[in-house]
Amino acid sequence: MKFERSHHGILPPFMLLELDRRYGATTEFIDTLATTKRLFADSPRRGNHHYHFLPTASGSSNGERETYDCQGKTTRPGKKYRFESDKPGSDTEGNNAHDFTAMVREFYLKIHGRNSIDAHGMPMVSCFNFDRDYNNAFWDGAMMTYGRPQNNIFKSFVLLDVCGHEISHGVTEFVANIEYYGQPGALNEHLSDVFGELIEQYANGITVDKADWVIGNGIFQPGIKGTGIRNMLNPGTAYNDPSLGKDPQPGHMRDYVKMSGDNGGVHYNSGIPNRAFALFAQGVGGNAWEKAGKIWYAARTTCGARPSFGRFAYETVEACKQLGMTNLVSTLDKAWKDVGITPSKTAVDTDTPAPGGADEHGHINLLDAVA
Ligand SMILES: [Zn+2]
Repeated sequence: MKFERSHHGILPPFMLLELDRRYGATTEFIDTLATTKRLFADSPRRGNHHYHFLPTASGSSNGERETYDCQGKTTRPGKKYRFESDKPGSDTEGNNAHDFTAMVREFYLKIHGRNSIDAHGMPMVSCFNFDRDYNNAFWDGAMMTYGRPQNNIFKSFVLLDVCGHEISHGVTEFVANIEYYGQPGALNEHLSDVFGELIEQYANGITVDKADWVIGNGIFQPGIKGTGIRNMLNPGTAYNDPSLGKDPQPGHMRDYVKMSGDNGGVHYNSGIPNRAFALFAQGVGGNAWEKAGKIWYAARTTCGARPSFGRFAYETVEACKQLGMTNLVSTLDKAWKDVGITPSKTAVDTDTPAPGGADEHGHINLLDAVA
């Protein structure tokens, strides 16, 4: 099926298309989409378990890091920059990519007992400075790739929550291989936002009352009116700038975006479960990764490959009980109800149109090619 994607980018295609529309004289944003399309056109099933992993340089299997410099070219992984215990080099983004990957690895190991992305210590490969003015960061089933923006909108894609979001797509692939269309796809996006944000909170020791729930803090150049690309607690409020338009995410089922583009609105409707998670974590208090994060991690393992929102919500309630947190069930139920979702074992996605129709922007072909 055409929505079996092999690539995840932190910037949704609609954002790049919006930028292209507003900056018709420049080409970097549409070039980013075109480069991505070329990159994945010849390997439609490259993601998930079909990819042949790079041989690990160290030969061991505890998620050893291998960080490469693409030097502005599109050949990956590029030139060796820094391997596991090598000293830092002179490139800030290269050092950050290496360090952030270690934090993601630590989070999964210490909090969830998971050895790297596949739970069997697969090497954690990153490459940075990919292409020229490539405006995205992505996980492709085998490695992280970061572009280096050279424009007035984006500052950097090498950010801790971006790294956590993208690598978590890898974890989701190995745990549940959740379909990337409609509500399952929006939950796939949601899970990456949850764990990307939790990794940032964990790394900085941020309790829920201090958390900003923003994905992509620091992604924009100064002067752009936005805190990041998504806001989990208040979807639709992350940015509003003449350069970018307004954050289009809904935070309640009444505003569910019915479209077949963006793989059935995966980057739009993820705002709804995102808000439920943030509300629940706030209701619980303390460190979000200790209780809410554990529940979501467990629900991901039991939700199957095609969960609807209602089904996933049901799995969180079940996980809550299984983990001995029965006292939190009413808080959890309330969080889901506050975004218009009723936990139900039998709920199916009847809100998303079938793939193939034109979306509200008329960009179906390009979006499908990229997603
Ligand atoms: Zn994503």
